[in-house]
Order: sequence, then structure tokens, then C-alpha cells
Amino acid sequence: MHIIMASPECAPVAKIGGLGDFVQGLSRELAVRGNQVEVVVPKYDCMRFDRIRDMHKVFTDLSVPFYDRYIHCDVEYGEADGIKCFFIDSHSEHGFFNRGKIYGDADDPDRFAFFSRALMEFLYKSGRRPDIIHCNDWHTGLVAVLLYEVYAGLGMDRTRACYSLHNMGHQGWTGTHVLHMNRLDAGRLMTSERLQDPGNPHAVNLMKGGIVFSNFVTTVSPRYAWEIQHTDQGMGLQGVLKTHDHKFGGVLNGIDYSTWNPEIDPLIPHNYGPGSLMQKALDKASLRQRVGLTEEFKPLVAVVSRLDRQKGVELIRHGLYYALEQGCQFVLLGSAPDAAVNADFWRIKHEMDTSPDCHLELGYDEELAHLIYAGADLILIPSIYEPCGLTQMIAMKYGCIPVARRVGGLADTVFDANYSDRPFEERNGYVFDDATYAGVESALGRAIGLWKRFPEYYRQLRVNGMRMDNSWNRPCQHYLDIYNHVRVID
Ligand code: ADP
Repeated sequence: MHIIMASPECAPVAKIGGLGDFVQGLSRELAVRGNQVEVVVPKYDCMRFDRIRDMHKVFTDLSVPFYDRYIHCDVEYGEADGIKCFFIDSHSEHGFFNRGKIYGDADDPDRFAFFSRALMEFLYKSGRRPDIIHCNDWHTGLVAVLLYEVYAGLGMDRTRACYSLHNMGHQGWTGTHVLHMNRLDAGRLMTSERLQDPGNPHAVNLMKGGIVFSNFVTTVSPRYAWEIQHTDQGMGLQGVLKTHDHKFGGVLNGIDYSTWNPEIDPLIPHNYGPGSLMQKALDKASLRQRVGLTEEFKPLVAVVSRLDRQKGVELIRHGLYYALEQGCQFVLLGSAPDAAVNADFWRIKHEMDTSPDCHLELGYDEELAHLIYAGADLILIPSIYEPCGLTQMIAMKYGCIPVARRVGGLADTVFDANYSDRPFEERNGYVFDDATYAGVESALGRAIGLWKRFPEYYRQLRVNGMRMDNSWNRPCQHYLDIYNHVRVID
């Protein structure tokens, strides 16, 4: 099958969170199974160019319709960790992808609406007629709309669209100008069955467009699929998802074990597996050295997260103080897009400046993230909502036990050491239900108690997590089944 992966992110070159990992992991697994997979992302000025091999221009003079004129784009090609990637470079006076960041500007809907059009124009002009275009999140919702409103009529009538929802908190709410920008018929599309936002009749909802126009819609865990149809986690799109129930389902994400595996990870000083956990203690020492914590007989609790309200920032902050009170060490790696949250964590960082037991690293650091998973004993994930969550799966692979709120994909992957009804070999962490300080303390307290009093049982819990199969193997097959289900077969 020929599959185009349309996305605003692809790890490791352009990654903000789990979406980048998803595109990398699924694309790699699909390619390993003999499919022709091509990822298309914007060419951001802030990409990790050092992770792209052999980058060169493959298409010049791509004229992309933009209101009543055209914007000139080039397309470059390169391999990102073995994955075939096309990068769309726009030469517009708006500098759409030259902002020093991937997201976070007021005109984000315009930037990605333009990217969607440029991507479709590139496929069309370069003669590509893929079986599947797999679109991701609101940024590429318009790709499915453009496929059926414009390009099917130009000969791309055998291509089908699959659409994955990674986070309902961001839906690409915008005005009808994005439709005019793309020369789409606003009168036809601004209806309650199509792109009109359910909460605001004057707003275009790009994610809704992707849902309505795609042939199949997935989200990243079965539990989140249920939550967004039946609770306010759907953030206004519950009704739309119910209407399209016949083509909607949850597929649990995998993680890419060629990137996330302590047995072969080149970014950690000591490799180890379930049978050589002593080596993990050496990584703990390296982590302590790297972030300036003292060497003491204490459990090391970690957080690796975007510091977004979705991630339960108040609960993270409380967990930090609680863990220190309980005689633990604590390391946090996080980046906060919100100024107030950022200021709050900087305040804590200064407060902890001289602490031998606590370190906060505020920013994004791929290499340090690997060392933290390898060196820490526990990872705290108190999310308010969590579509899938990769952090807990990565942590488990590194023998770092998750303490997580039972929500979304966390509920599908973390099984409580004490209360789960699963057999012991499948229990792998600690969970809590209430998004409260008491909730965090109940689960974190039990985990810390186990580390201190029952080291052998703690070791077994680590091994249970390390032995879980959260690879892309199963989910990739699931996606292939979906592609085959919607594909036009002669
Ligand atoms: P989300 O996509 O909501 O951010 P996920 O748990 O699905 O959350 O994915 C998070 C991914 O981003 C993981 O690979 C995690 O290691 C990584 N990550 C999060 N914050 C940072 C950071 N500050 N530095 C490095 N990696 C990070």
C-alpha cells in the first residue's frame, strides 16, 4: 500500500509530544511490513536538521493557491531516522513555518490550513495517487476536506483518508477565511453537518472537518474513544462522533522500541534489560550526577511532561513536595507553554536551587528524557485527561514504575499493583481516580512504601512493566486492517 502520513510533527526532527512519536513509530512499522510510507511535514526553521540525512530539493515551483493568488513553495526530501520525509518550504511573506517554534501563534489555523493545501497540491502535482492519506489532529483536518471537495474531482478519486485524533483539547477553531484562503465553498461547507463548530455557528472547526470527511476516524486509545463520545472530554464534538460512530474506533498507540529500549539505547550510559537491572542503578547514579542530586539510599521520583494544564500541573507540583516530604528525590523535566505555569515552576526551581534532593529542568531535552527514564524509580503522571500517553509506556520499558491517574490511555495501560483484577504478572504500576492531592498521595504513598519496604516485590513490578508488549506490532496491524477496510480494491 502507498500511505501518506500528513502531520504537523514527526520525531525526531519536529516533535512537541506524543504525536511526533506516533508518526515516527507507526510509519516505521508500516514500512518494515513492506508498505510505501511517506511522511509530509512543514519545513520548520527550528527542526532538528542534524537528524535528517541527505536533505535535498525534489520539487521546485510548487504554486499553492492562496485566496486569489498563489504562494510559491519548494519541497525537500530527506530521511529522518530511516523514515522517508518530505518537507514543505513556503516562501510566503507570512513566514508560515519560520517562527522559531512549531505551534503557538495566533495564526496557527492559517499556517496549517495553508500546509494542508500545499500538501495536497504536492501530491497532485508530483503524480502521487496514494491508497491512503493518514491525517493527524486538527492541523491536517482540512486535508480530508480538500481531498473530497477538490482533488477527487481532479483524478485522486481512489485515495482514501484516515484521520487520527490525538487531543480533543485543540480543534482548530477559526473563521471562514481559511475556506476562502483555500478556495473552498464556504456556503456549502459551513453547515451543521460539515465544518460548522457545534458551539459557535460562526466558527469553522477544522477537526470536525477531518471527522466528517474522512473514511475512517481513530483515536489513540479505546478508553479515550469512549470518553470523547460519552463525556465532556469530547469538548463539544461528542455529538459529531456519535453521528459518525460507524467509522470511529480507538487504537491503542505503541512505542517505537528501536528508540525506546534500555537494552540498546545509545543515549543512556549503561544498557540493561529485565535480567540485568543492576545496571539501572548505575544509570540512577549518572542521572543524579547529571542533575546535581546526592547519592543516597532514596527512591527517585520523576516527571517528564509538557507542563500543560491537561497534565495536571497542580498535582505535579503537589507530588513534588509530597515526594520530598516522604524522603524521596525528585527530578522534573518539563516545558510550559503557558506563561503563568512557566513562572510558577521557575519559582519552584529557584526555591530548590540548593536542594540536594530536587532538580527541575525547564525546557525540552530529548537526551535528558532518556536518562531520566533509565535512572528514575517512579514516574508521576497525574493527567486531567490523557488521550493515550506514551510516557507511562516508555517508563515501564525502562523499569520505571508509573503512578498515574486512571483516565484515557493511562487506564488502558497501567494496572494497579494492589487493586487491579489482572493477574500479578500484568500489574505494573499505581493508579488513582480523583484529581486531588489526596488522590496523588494515595497512589504515590503506596509506591514509595513498596520501594522502601518490599524491594523484591518492587523489582518484580518493574520486570512486569518491562515485559509488556507495547510495541507497534499490534496497533500497526490494526491500522492496516482499517486501511484495507476503506481502500478501493480492484
Ligand atoms: P503528549 O503528547 O500529550 O505531550 P505523551 O505522553 O503522549 O504526551 O508523549 C510525550 C512525549 O514527549 C514522550 O516521548 C516524552 O518523553 C516527551 N516529552 C515530554 N516533555 C518533554 C521534555 N520536556 N523534554 C523531552 N521530552 C519530552
